Amino acid sequence: MTNNYIYFVANWKMFGGIKSLNSLGKVIKFSKLSKKFKFKLIYCPPYTLLSPFIKKIKKSQISLGAQNCHYISDSGAYTGSISPEMLKSLGVKYVILGHSESRSDGDTDYIINRKVRSCNKKKLKIIFCIGETLKEKRNGLTHQVLKKQISKGLEGVKNINNILFAYEPVWSIGTGVIPKLPTLRNDINILKSFISKKFKKKNIKILYGGSVNSNNIKDLKDISTLDGFLVGGASQNAKKFIDIVKKTFN
Ligand code: PGA
Repeated sequence: MTNNYIYFVANWKMFGGIKSLNSLGKVIKFSKLSKKFKFKLIYCPPYTLLSPFIKKIKKSQISLGAQNCHYISDSGAYTGSISPEMLKSLGVKYVILGHSESRSDGDTDYIINRKVRSCNKKKLKIIFCIGETLKEKRNGLTHQVLKKQISKGLEGVKNINNILFAYEPVWSIGTGVIPKLPTLRNDINILKSFISKKFKKKNIKILYGGSVNSNNIKDLKDISTLDGFLVGGASQNAKKFIDIVKKTFN
């Protein structure tokens, strides 16, 4: 892995009730090691848990993220929606945008682009997800698809300092299957140089997501150009999540 901070994002998806917060004590304690080992922990629980979460992690090294937001930055007549401003005022620091599950729920590149702009306006950090489907991969379209998602989703966006990219092949999410390491290494390099050229910025941060667990992390951590991991299923269990972090560093 690199010499920079390594990010570990826990994406709880639509799982977890108030009792899920009971296991956080372990993670809060563990987060005290984050400066020494140079890692950052970001929890993205469902909206309903953001408020109790923020109270619980107040004095810890853990940051809070939301799993999505509305494209209107402040407020309005949008029943059932949550705006970037609402998240910001709660103390949320990150927002996941473009996750494949949100894309298949209707988030187009255009909508994602509007969300990015609104989050930028509110100075929220963005975890910008991209990924190809199995069909696209089989048709040799991976790089084309990823580049399009970046170009359209970030169209007109000048400042990407707030953005962490997350490469999540759709066929890897929740399936237990991860990409072949040489392929993943190559894909990350291609993505980094594409983004770097496009936005004239060095030091692009890219996380990998899709079936990360405490077994395959031993292989994934060898890809030195990765800046961290977006963990779904395995992040709902505090011990498993901590294990992933620990195994990254030994
Ligand atoms: P997974 O999910 O780790 O359960 O595959 C990753 C994600 O969807 O962010």
